[in-house]
Amino acid sequence: MGKAIAAPSPLLQLDCIHKHYRHGESGVHALCDIHLQIDPGDMVAVCGPSGHGKTTLLNVAGLLEPANAGSLVIDGVETAGLDESGRTALRLRTIGAVFQCFKLIPVMTARDNVMLPLLLRQRLTRPQHSDAQALAAELLARVGLASHLHYRPARLDHGQSQRVAIARALITQPRLVLADEPTSRLDGSALRMVLELFTACQREQGTAFVITTRDQRQLVRASRTLQLNDGRLGPRQADLARHFPRHAVVHGAVHAARVEA
Ligand code: ADP
Ligand code: MG
Repeated sequence: MGKAIAAPSPLLQLDCIHKHYRHGESGVHALCDIHLQIDPGDMVAVCGPSGHGKTTLLNVAGLLEPANAGSLVIDGVETAGLDESGRTALRLRTIGAVFQCFKLIPVMTARDNVMLPLLLRQRLTRPQHSDAQALAAELLARVGLASHLHYRPARLDHGQSQRVAIARALITQPRLVLADEPTSRLDGSALRMVLELFTACQREQGTAFVITTRDQRQLVRASRTLQLNDGRLGPRQADLARHFPRHAVVHGAVHAARVEA
């Protein structure tokens, strides 16, 4: 009998995740009972209207905010037992993040912003520092910013800043990229370059992507599309309508609506 081939272990596993924010006397359930598994090489798009929990999902999955309940396992590590330095080490080892509002450091050039995660991770010595510079320059060139290496963020427009944030997320060759609406400010050739870069990372390094988006152009590259409505994650309505025309979708859950033949 042939030997069973072991499935790759998930890079990210969220089970029963809840996130609640207090707003004075009341509160908001930003995430309700989230279950999500991401394997190496996945390209998962999470769609959903503004205010429905996309950023919160990535912040929780990326260890930037704690969940109120549930289990979060990253690269086989149950994160509940980690202290701050353990979380930081796991993040630097595994995750690249593209923030919705970029979070570039204003006093640093585009190239130095991109290099930063690598410097933090490797505590580089001088010769390696030049390697990091070269790698940052190469990534910036791949997103069309070869002539902007020495610009500070104040001199960059939103689309350029977004591309610097994308290059920064990829410089450590992370196995998991969490990207919050990463193409929202891109059009034309910039969009094409970024999508090509994501696809190349996925194909050549097996990088997994979780990408929140309201951008239909992004969805063509996704291997799976999910919908986040009112903090609940499920299949995307448009896909369900196409694949399961006889099912009704309520808040991402599929309820079989029996249709008489
Ligand atoms: P999206 O990214 O889909 O626009 P968010 O995750 O930013 O949605 O927000 C989901 C909900 O959680 C919203 O109602 C928002 O107001 C609330 N929220 C997000 N972050 C915070 C916070 N730090 N404090 C309080 N409420 C928050
Ligand atoms: Mg958001």
